[in-house]
Order: sequence, then C-alpha cells, then structure tokens
Amino acid sequence: MSEWNTRTKLVHGGTRRSQYNEVSEAIFLTQGFVYENAEQAEARFIETGPDEFIYARYGNPTVNMFERRIALLEGAEDAFATASGMAAVNGALTSLLKAGDHVVSAKALFGSCLYILENVLTRFGVEVTFVDGTDLDAWRAAMRPDTKAVFFESMSNPTLEVIDIAGVAEIAHEVGATVIVDNVFSTPVFSNAIAQGADVVVYSATKHIDGQGRVLGGVVLGTKEFIRGTFEPYMKHTGGALSPFNAWVLLKGLETIELRVKAQAESAQALAEALEGHSALERTLYPGLASHPQKDLVARQLGGKGGTVLSLDIKGGKDAAFRFLNAMQIAVISNNLGDAKSIATHPATTTHQRLSDEQKDELGITPGLIRFSVGLEDTGDLLADITAALEASQAV
Ligand SMILES: *Cc1c(COP(=O)(O)O)cnc(C)c1O
Repeated sequence: MSEWNTRTKLVHGGTRRSQYNEVSEAIFLTQGFVYENAEQAEARFIETGPDEFIYARYGNPTVNMFERRIALLEGAEDAFATASGMAAVNGALTSLLKAGDHVVSAKALFGSCLYILENVLTRFGVEVTFVDGTDLDAWRAAMRPDTKAVFFESMSNPTLEVIDIAGVAEIAHEVGATVIVDNVFSTPVFSNAIAQGADVVVYSATKHIDGQGRVLGGVVLGTKEFIRGTFEPYMKHTGGALSPFNAWVLLKGLETIELRVKAQAESAQALAEALEGHSALERTLYPGLASHPQKDLVARQLGGKGGTVLSLDIKGGKDAAFRFLNAMQIAVISNNLGDAKSIATHPATTTHQRLSDEQKDELGITPGLIRFSVGLEDTGDLLADITAALEASQAV
C-alpha cells in the first residue's frame, strides 16, 4: 500500500473487510468484542494482535481503518485517532511531558491550543516559553538543555504566517526536543510535515478531513515508538477515543480530500489574486500570493500552494467587518474551516475574543480582519458575493 500514489491510498488504504466482503467500509458500532473462551480473553489482555480488539476506548476496527488510511497519506509509521483535534493536541503534549520539563511554542496559536500551553501544562510544573514562530533566531535563543518539546501550527490562524518546519526541527533536535506540529491549515494534502522533520503531527479531522461539517475528530501521527509507547497508553486510559461512527465519516472524507482541498485551494488562489488591492481592503493575506512575505518558504514547504483559507483586512474596523459579514449571501458566518461551504469568521470577536487587545495587536488580529475559508462553490459566484459585500462594508 505504501507504494501507491496518494489518490489510490486515499480510496483503498487501510480497508479491512468482514466475512461479508462489503464494498464500502463497515461501521463497527460496538463498544466491545466477544472472546471465544476465557483463555483467549486472558491472552488478548497480555498481548493484543493487529487484528484483535478488546474495548472501543483502546481500539475499534472502523477507527483502525481511519488510522491506517491517514498514516499512509502522511507517510507516518503509525497513528492514533481521537475524539477531537483538541484531544489530539492535549494528548500529544501531556503524554510526553512531566513536571520540570521545558516547552518552546509559537505564540500565534488556535485559542484552545494556547489554553493548554498557557493554563494547563503550567499548572503541572511544565515551563513554557513563547516565541515568534517565524523567527528562527528566536527559536534558537529559547532552546535549553531541558527543552523536551516544541509546538507550533505550521500555518498560523488567522494571519496565515508559515513556520519553517525543517528549520525549527533542526534547532529543536540539537537539544533532543520532540517536534510536535499542528498541521491543520497546511492540510495533509499540501504539507508532509514528517518528511520535513516533524516527529509528531496532529490534525483536527473536524476540518478538511471531514470537510463537510458533520463530525468532530482528531488524529496524532508519529513513529510506532511514540504512538504505541507514549501516546496510546495515555489516551486509552484517559478516554479521548474517537467514536466508530465518526471514524467512518472521516474515512469516507479521506476518499475525496485531495480533490476537495485542491479545488478549494485553486479557488482561494483565484479569489486572493482578484481581491488583492481592492479599495475596501487594507491587506489581503494568502500564502499563495506573490506578495506573501514568506513566498520562498511556501514554495519549499507547501509546493507553492497557499491552502484553503484567506484573510481579508477590511478598511473601517469592526463596523465595516460586520457590514461585510451581514451582506454576504453565499458564505455562512460560522467558525469551522476546510468545509465544502465557504465560512467567514471575525476572529477578534469570536475565536480570538479571549485575547487581550495587546495580544491581538501583536498577532495582527485587527478589528477589520475576516478569516475566509473557501468552500467548493463556484469561484465566480464567490467573487461576486465577496465583492458586493466589500462594497456594502464601505457604505455608511
Ligand atoms: C480546529 C483546530 C483545532 C481543534 O480541533 P477540534 O476538532 O475543534 O477539537 C486545533 N488546532 C487548529 C489549528 C484548529 O484549526
């Protein structure tokens, strides 16, 4: 299977068939598994083979199909699926760290990731240093002999800065730190974080992997040693297991992820190019634009692809941003991303509301900033809708 090209892996990878030889993957909606006899139960608790299961919190055949398929896509030795993206981020960090350890993290983070690093880990005696993730000198300066892990989102939310995975990994590996990358915005289609030097990759499968707004899910990928030796023992006892039904939805999502994400990114590129310089816009942020400050890194790390999200900084602050949101006919106002439906978000008052004004300033989350997740609608329709809403945003 690992010899197959991506699209073949995404359609057939990890499939295991029951005695009925079904075409579409079966949903094993069961919490547990019956043993033939007492001896078999005893043996399975001593050692669980690859085709054996005990309890759905430990593993389940449908969940396992999803894990195998995403591991093939990522080129990872192993994977463990979780109930949500946050269960994956929290588990990756807490399964590895103990009191007295030091962590270096990028400061531009998804709100809940920031909460874990700032408020949870520190309560248990882990010290965290935050740096500007785009500044390799800052990473180097923050590293210490007791630095156990580094954490960052490879493309930041909502200002779409790109962090140099290979560059940070080289610095972190000098002190033996584990490199944990949240790769959601880069997507598993455009960015192979493990090949670039990450030790552990986490995804919120709620985003592009489902891609149709139905379920929550997450996954942690890494070496067999990390997944089975560090992550699984922690996760199977702390209860963040993915539901078999959600795993089935995500498994079917993987069949089409490449087609969807490529079409969405193509549309995002066209929209960003058409909108850049619009008189109602202060800035158009999109990693695929020639004007993006990290154009060379985008070429190296993402094959020049800017992803499925663009951010628009609208002139006139919050009032103008709200007029823009309320004028749109196609995109919905919500806070998911990577969905087939275009979704517009006002980070300053929603996803990043919790941050202080100084933190927002520092991260470039201005009152006029809109995060726009480009869906699968017709690009021309989206451009017409956005353009009309931009005009409405400036009408006072
Ligand atoms: C959404 C998101 C998460 C959290 O995922 P959930 O599935 O909502 O728990 C973590 N990191 C990033 C970058 C995200 O966008």
